[in-house]
Amino acid sequence: MTSKTSAASGKTTAEGDFPIAIIGAGFGGIGMAIQLKKAGIESFTIFDRAGEVGGTWRDNTYPGAACDVPSHAYSLSFEPNPKWSRKYSPADEIQNYILGLVDKWKLRGRIRFNTDIVGASFDDTTGAWTIRTGDGEDFKARVVISAVGGLVDPAYPDIPGIESFEGKKIHTARWDHDYDLRGKRVGVIGTGASAVQVVPAIAPEVAELEVFQRTPAWVVPKRDAVYSDRLKKLLARFPVLLRISRAFKYWTSELLGPMIFLDAPRLSAVGEKLSLAHLESQVKDPELRRKLRPEFQFGCKRVLVSDEYWASFERGNVSLECEAIDEIRPRGIHTRDGALHELDAIVFATGFELGLARAPFPVVGRDGRSLDESWAEGAVAYKGMTVSGFPNWFILMGPNTGPGHTSVLVYTEAQISHALQAIRKLRDEGLKFVDIRQEVQDRYNERIQGRMKYMVWPNCSSWYLSKDGSNHSLYPGFASEYVVSAHNFHPEEYQIAELDADAGHEADAA
Ligand code: NAP
Repeated sequence: MTSKTSAASGKTTAEGDFPIAIIGAGFGGIGMAIQLKKAGIESFTIFDRAGEVGGTWRDNTYPGAACDVPSHAYSLSFEPNPKWSRKYSPADEIQNYILGLVDKWKLRGRIRFNTDIVGASFDDTTGAWTIRTGDGEDFKARVVISAVGGLVDPAYPDIPGIESFEGKKIHTARWDHDYDLRGKRVGVIGTGASAVQVVPAIAPEVAELEVFQRTPAWVVPKRDAVYSDRLKKLLARFPVLLRISRAFKYWTSELLGPMIFLDAPRLSAVGEKLSLAHLESQVKDPELRRKLRPEFQFGCKRVLVSDEYWASFERGNVSLECEAIDEIRPRGIHTRDGALHELDAIVFATGFELGLARAPFPVVGRDGRSLDESWAEGAVAYKGMTVSGFPNWFILMGPNTGPGHTSVLVYTEAQISHALQAIRKLRDEGLKFVDIRQEVQDRYNERIQGRMKYMVWPNCSSWYLSKDGSNHSLYPGFASEYVVSAHNFHPEEYQIAELDADAGHEADAA
């Protein structure tokens, strides 16, 4: 549990001997809490600005929402689930899995819901962080786990007139289930990972569906499958089978990884060929196929996985609009060719504000330096987890830890392990703080950025890239490579400060 101070009264209450704050109750935060509990460390509090756990899987409830990574791989290895209903689970099933973990590990009472953290600052003398909530309450924590996620806040496009639209506006990441799309004329802006799921899901319901495409994307077959009851029983009875299935899916994605992340035209051509064969099998009209055919290199933007997206354009009520959007008007979308596409609703499948690139709220570390100052030239962290000058602060899903080819949870688990080892050392040895050495962080990031020129991502524009074209989002390599390097905490890479007896007492009692 975290020590609490009322900012208004200045009173303090001690709720644990080594308070740990976990910010975010999504996959990362919940996974961290489980591993802490397993290690016998109970002194943590989870904060979430929403009223429920789940993060991405709580927020993304649009029709068709699912994970495009197979569930046997996209789940926590230390919480195997033999009950997934199909190869690629729908969002609500993933959310139920997270809810199940919260119940199993009795975490609900440890979560402060509807609590927005708006600032954090580190006290050098006590080795404690003070984190402040939107209500002005302060909490002291010896360690902070920042598990706030990278793709959280919906991004709306910068299209003139967007506010003037008189119909319904819905972002995929904040779906309004009270709005009935049946029989409506609907426009979808965007053709990314969210769009390929929502388009086929709503197409049968709506009267007309116009998909506004700026850049066609590479789509590969999903080959989704329902898992029979017999298979689920077998997986439950023989957990080794589930582990084999997970390993198979994981190593297949690693094997295919270079085709997706390397700037190797011959490898990219294999993926492009596979995708074009898929396009040919799904769309009969050559002119439509031409419009849907991407021109950028395979893997440069996220490779999309769907058996139904391209096939949706074969439906009589679905059309593809490739003219650039000029503006949004009260009655619809106006394209550059002068046409007004009259609509009842616009679905924005336009992605997220990139949360990875900046501090989630003002974070002030040693010597009064802010995280935003440290990240002025792009978000950098040692192995995406620790930032020099911000001791005892561990980021899950931080800079350069996103994968384009496999499950992000593989990376998250390595980060959880690293943080847990650091917490044990801090707690068991009565240390004040561990702070990644600047030179270690710099060397690591030089290597990471040096590798980027061999990756495919600089070759097109995508959310992976910052405005200056640098990539602070994705990990340039195999997941296994990251896991081997990040899984263990190496004390020699960190500056370690002892807790002086008086200051320690102060920190723990505060
Ligand atoms: P996204 O990949 O950022 O796609 C946004 C789409 O909106 C793009 O097609 C973009 O076109 C288009 N767009 C943006 N501004 C526009 C404008 N002004 N005019 C016209 N079009 C515009 O967003 P997303 O599909 O939500 O996916 C974001 C990320 O979330 C994914 O890469 C993935 O990491 C994650 N995700 C994962 C899953 C999963 O199953 N695991 C599912 C959904 C999302 P351009 O391409 O031309 O920029």
